[in-house]
Amino acid sequence: MQIITEPRQMQAIAEKLRLNRQFIGVVMTMGALHEGHLSLIKLARQSAGTIILTIFVNPSQFGIDEDLHQYPRPFEQDVALATAAEVDYLFAPVAGTIYPENYQTTLQCGALGERFEGERRPGHFNGVATVVTKLLHITKPHRAIFGEKDAQQLAIIRRLVEDLNLDVDIVSAPIIREENGLAVSSRNIYLSSQERNAASILYQGICHAQKCIAEQNKNLPAIAAEIEQMIRSTPGCRPDYVAFVDEEQFEPAETVEAGKEYRLLIAAYAGSVRLIDNGKICA
Ligand code: AMP
Repeated sequence: MQIITEPRQMQAIAEKLRLNRQFIGVVMTMGALHEGHLSLIKLARQSAGTIILTIFVNPSQFGIDEDLHQYPRPFEQDVALATAAEVDYLFAPVAGTIYPENYQTTLQCGALGERFEGERRPGHFNGVATVVTKLLHITKPHRAIFGEKDAQQLAIIRRLVEDLNLDVDIVSAPIIREENGLAVSSRNIYLSSQERNAASILYQGICHAQKCIAEQNKNLPAIAAEIEQMIRSTPGCRPDYVAFVDEEQFEPAETVEAGKEYRLLIAAYAGSVRLIDNGKICA
């Protein structure tokens, strides 16, 4: 595996790979690699001849009171995991090469970027859209793999690719979970073992919703309120939001209509750690 830190060098390599008719798959991460990231690499490997993994803790998607400086950066461990996963190129720039001093241009997401996570984290999705676009231009992939774990981010990236006519195929990968149902995340290291156990309530909420809907209970706000109550009555946990949305626009949904796709979004705290999770809802 070759480690590249300079955008121009990565672009030159990607250009050469394309000229040699290599199918390039990219997986974008903030590092602290875990099973979720590795599943994306595995999925990329199914179709791509060359895999580029990016590791970049993107400052522009963190709010001023968020964990940018504490975010885990176990780089050597990440290199070992990426090598074992047979990544071909690891692109790991420093912040100054992605956002040099005179940097000015950013992308602005529309309404989709202002709901749910966007409302709680103002500017977050503009930062995501900007860095994803930059990384796509730097790595020139045919296909990019993103996890359903960040479902709103995935919807925004699909919108971005369509709106800006980006020539890349976006593929989504299912959520990888721990044994108790907790979605694997780099931020789970902030959880104590008690909080980690309690945090499985988010997944239990998703299972509860799927069961209700399978039993033809279609009152989505009432189900969301039940899940909020489940979280509230779990020691150490409190809900931030629980909402059903339609899969495309992420508009709040009141009921389930046949033939439409929905998703349950949950954001909740276990202790002081904010977690997000989601599940597809099939009518
Ligand atoms: P991050 O490093 O947290 O920015 O995540 C990088 C990519 O990995 C994103 O596309 C995430 O959605 C995806 N990802 C993170 N956690 C998981 C998980 N538990 N299962 C599947 N994909 C994940």
